[in-house]
Amino acid sequence: MNSKLSVGVLGIQGDIEENKTVTQEALNHSNVKGDVKFVRYAEEIEKIDGLILPGGESTVISTLATIQGGILHTIKRRIAEGMPVLGTCAGMIMLAKRAYDRVVGETRQQLLSNLDIVVERNAFGRQDDSFEAKLSIPILGKNNEFFKGVFIRAPIVIEAGAAVDIIAKFNNRIVGVRQGNVIGTSFHPELSGDDRIHRQFIKTVLDCKRHKGVQQI
Ligand code: GLN
Repeated sequence: MNSKLSVGVLGIQGDIEENKTVTQEALNHSNVKGDVKFVRYAEEIEKIDGLILPGGESTVISTLATIQGGILHTIKRRIAEGMPVLGTCAGMIMLAKRAYDRVVGETRQQLLSNLDIVVERNAFGRQDDSFEAKLSIPILGKNNEFFKGVFIRAPIVIEAGAAVDIIAKFNNRIVGVRQGNVIGTSFHPELSGDDRIHRQFIKTVLDCKRHKGVQQI
């Protein structure tokens, strides 16, 4: 019986170290035994209990993932089978079914399509237009303390299917979604110094695996 959670961070491009660090913190804060590791190969992705798709550049991540022996198929199948996933910024774009950009229209990049959403990339402008905003995210708990959203060339969700819960909005634009075991954020919770979104993800991973005997410490 495997008594520890094994969480993977897709370790191809983007802020992978930051995600690893905050996920380890979230495990510790949640009193859950677990390891966080970078995953790059199909056989590694087969073994994990949950996956983080980090922020970065979605076209680069999916192109390199495709070169890496078609691991996108493995990721897509495992998510469809119920593996919990957190996609932040570029990671949320990868989870979408379609992506648009104001300059080129539909971007036609390789996407996983596990989330029933359509996104607009770079919806707030370029790197220089990066900003932080206080977000109200009720799923994070009753005390309703604001979450500092860090937006860097961030996408927004322009269409969300009926099965998608909207978990965060900024200026009336959708910046956080949840569909079953899949969470997507336009912002970078790994850069906010607040592990509550990652803790929520760990809770989902734990709930998913609980019947297999994961121990609380
Ligand atoms: N604009 C990037 C993309 O399209 C995402 C930016 C980010 O992850 N900070 O992939």
